[in-house]
Amino acid sequence: MHGSQILEEADRLMTVCNSCRYCEGLCAVFPAMEMRRAFSDGDLNYLANLCHACGACYTDCQFSPPHEFNVNVPRTLAIARAESWAGYAWPRALSGLFARNGVAVSLICAVSVAAFIFGFAAFTDRQVLLGVHTGPGAFYALMPHNAMAALFGAAFLYAMLALATGLRAFWSDIGEPAGTLADPPSLWQAMKDAGRLRYLDGGGVGCFNEDERPTDRRKIYHHLTFYGFLLCFAATSVATLYHYLLAREAPYAWWDLPVLLGTLGGIGLLIGPAGLLIEKFKRDAALVDEKRTGMDTAFILMLLLTSMTGLALLAWRDTVAMGPLLALHLGVVFSLFITLPYSKFVHGLYRYAALVRYARERRMLGHG
Ligand code: SF4
Ligand code: SF4
Repeated sequence: MHGSQILEEADRLMTVCNSCRYCEGLCAVFPAMEMRRAFSDGDLNYLANLCHACGACYTDCQFSPPHEFNVNVPRTLAIARAESWAGYAWPRALSGLFARNGVAVSLICAVSVAAFIFGFAAFTDRQVLLGVHTGPGAFYALMPHNAMAALFGAAFLYAMLALATGLRAFWSDIGEPAGTLADPPSLWQAMKDAGRLRYLDGGGVGCFNEDERPTDRRKIYHHLTFYGFLLCFAATSVATLYHYLLAREAPYAWWDLPVLLGTLGGIGLLIGPAGLLIEKFKRDAALVDEKRTGMDTAFILMLLLTSMTGLALLAWRDTVAMGPLLALHLGVVFSLFITLPYSKFVHGLYRYAALVRYARERRMLGHG
């Protein structure tokens, strides 16, 4: 007996697949499945989070609908995956945010943007809010640096704490003691596999999206999104070091490292999410967990809004539009931070942990 209907179904499918084994070369899920004869809830959650949703095992399967075996591995694992994220959420009281995620994220974003606009209007006079501010420290005419650092530092720390607690719950659910997460060769292998999205390629031909013709589009857009996000994070980190170590205040010139990193990242974070959104709406409905369309879309839109408002702020920071654009950008980034632990963002964390376990299992069997 499993903890949910979807895990019962995942168990049924994994048992069929374990007899068939036709798909064993497609990704990491099938070899990991073959290491087991029976599946606990934790095993199924592990396999669900190891799946990259490439769709190949649905297209290739001779038992997929309308066959009576009704084998649909991508969709079943997608639902199990999303249900597992809600189960690991911290604090537990907020796990419901995964259910109506699109509405929740939209509301939090709207309130957050409104709060920054209201805050700027309340704490600065109209001339400052709609004035032209240039040179080092220009942003802090609208919001003192210490207030900005305290607010965003607290939101970031909260997100990190919630994500780390969720990761711990996942790791314990799949039956691994905390210590095994510190296995350098497995961490490195998983980093390489995640960094090039090794298993989002349908066994080498590409990802299946709207039809039976594989393409690399989802992988390319995902890379642009992921590396764009990392570059933006690097830009913020360098700017923080500039501020505290070199006493150099933002905004910086266009040729300075934080701006170059942020601009490159912002462009990636513009093209990648826009492409993912287009691919999402073209995707074969048989492959997706339609109940989570809101969550996927909300996260992609939040990334898109972050890059759009960031690039707009860069373009018009020397004009009277700077104040309203700064409020808009800070509101979007703040809501992105506090909703990270309850958004599609978590898929990257749990998938990476699942890849670490997979790498370790393979090494223990002498395969890597
Ligand atoms: S998905 Fe279908 S073809 Fe692939 S292993 Fe399972 S039953 Fe076999
Ligand atoms: S959808 Fe792709 S990644 Fe997921 S189990 Fe099937 S082949 Fe593997």
